[in-house]
Amino acid sequence: MTKQIPHFINGKHEPGASARSGEVFNPNTGQIQSKVAFASKGEVDAAVKSAKSALPEWSAINPQRRARVLFQFKRLLEDNMDELAQILSAEHGKTIADSKGDIQRGLEVVEFACGVPHLAKGEFTSSAGTGIDMYSMRLPVGVCAGITPFNFPAMIPMWMFAPAVACGNTFVCKPSEKDPSLPLRLAELFIEAGAPPGVLNVVHGDKECVDLLLSHPDIAAVSFVGSSSIAEYVYANASSNGKRVQAMGGAKNHMVIMPDADMERVVDDLIGSGYGSAGERCMAIAVAVPVGEETAEHLMEKLVPRVESLRVGPSQDPQSDYGPLVTAQHRDKVKGYINMGIEEGATLAVDGRDFSLQGYEDGFFLGASLFDNVTAGMQSYKEEIFGPVLQVARAPNFEEAIALPTTHDYGNGAAVYTRDGDTAREFAARVGVGMVGVNVPIPVPLAYYSFGGWKRSAFGDMNQHGMDGIRFYTKLKTVTSRWPSGVKEGSDFSIPTMK
Ligand code: NAD
Repeated sequence: MTKQIPHFINGKHEPGASARSGEVFNPNTGQIQSKVAFASKGEVDAAVKSAKSALPEWSAINPQRRARVLFQFKRLLEDNMDELAQILSAEHGKTIADSKGDIQRGLEVVEFACGVPHLAKGEFTSSAGTGIDMYSMRLPVGVCAGITPFNFPAMIPMWMFAPAVACGNTFVCKPSEKDPSLPLRLAELFIEAGAPPGVLNVVHGDKECVDLLLSHPDIAAVSFVGSSSIAEYVYANASSNGKRVQAMGGAKNHMVIMPDADMERVVDDLIGSGYGSAGERCMAIAVAVPVGEETAEHLMEKLVPRVESLRVGPSQDPQSDYGPLVTAQHRDKVKGYINMGIEEGATLAVDGRDFSLQGYEDGFFLGASLFDNVTAGMQSYKEEIFGPVLQVARAPNFEEAIALPTTHDYGNGAAVYTRDGDTAREFAARVGVGMVGVNVPIPVPLAYYSFGGWKRSAFGDMNQHGMDGIRFYTKLKTVTSRWPSGVKEGSDFSIPTMK
């Protein structure tokens, strides 16, 4: 019988009473490996109710005790790293090394959140006026919901729930229905770490479940990561329902390659950042922009053989550079973009469309593809492909190169490769994206900085983790207090003025 993936409500597995469910594939073999229950209204209500019931006690305990649960959770992540990476890789299709990277990046946000006693401290001013003190407090916002994408099933739920619960909130996570097992396992481990039942719940589902969360009267804040059209939808709906919202969307990240760049390093980094995890990363480099014809020729000469020699294989094989895509539907969508690029007149320098792996003929594999002579007007350039396809858009000079990421609809990340400090500084200052790399291909900020793009890559004004994560998951209260006994006779009791 096909395994059923349950919800996790109030510290217990709930098999799911609705008639709706989704199929979870093993992307290596193309076979259905389990079914995931889709939550009904009753189950979403039960998860939110459990989070609401856990809130008074959890938010009232001191922050160092909440941090202790997170320290314990971090230890459990480390102790169970191998098992967690297997679960993740088997549903997502990324290699074991990439799966461990996914967990590690989430773990670092847990580490950051362990600092909550310091991070969520308020401010205090003694004698802001005569006999007047002023102080601020960062208080939990309440029950928070997180809706996450398929491509980082460990890191992104932890981006959200680690700072949220550290700040005293309780949480309902709705993971991607394509690879739901790892977020479920994280919730089990979180309870094992000592969190009371109800602090972290998991409900599975698709749009129907998301809509229930967006309109639920007991949810105070919604954090979303996924594609841009859905991010925009989530932002508009949840905020019109009075919720605090942060919604991260899709991306099209450029790497500008100056004539003085170290070409060996450029090619190594393009291979890792363009094709790693089958290109299913929101910080993948999707477009390489060599500046000048000579740079472009030099780049293509070195890049083509490297792309051709990428080893595409089963996700569990340590020899594989990358594994299958997440679903057949997504693989076909990526192939559709390759066909579109050809029709639009780009040069397909390496064609991965007909790749097939012996013994895994039904797996969702796709060979690596490389386009040259891509231009800004092409639809396949404007849209996010999210697969093992790198596009080369040649630019005659720095100005035209920097204009590409700056005028693109998406604005997650961009990188510049150069040995010249002036050029690097100019690029970092002027490029119109949220995260910039200088000789670094995937400039993902560490947990103690905040992650977020510009334009259609993010809706809402607070980013993930770092201090923005703490700000998002707390509401500020500022108190002005006056005690007349401390005031000398004849003192001015009016509000402080400039006099
Ligand atoms: P997706 O938008 O299809 O799904 C994300 C979440 O939304 C899932 O939980 C899904 O169940 C839910 N959902 C799907 N359709 C919905 C609908 N019509 N209404 C309401 N909810 C719906 O994204 P995905 O394919 O899982 O993930 C890949 C996308 O996520 C890419 O676009 C990638 O760039 C983006 N991403 C962005 C970041 C970032 O921080 N900017 C990080 C990772 C991934």
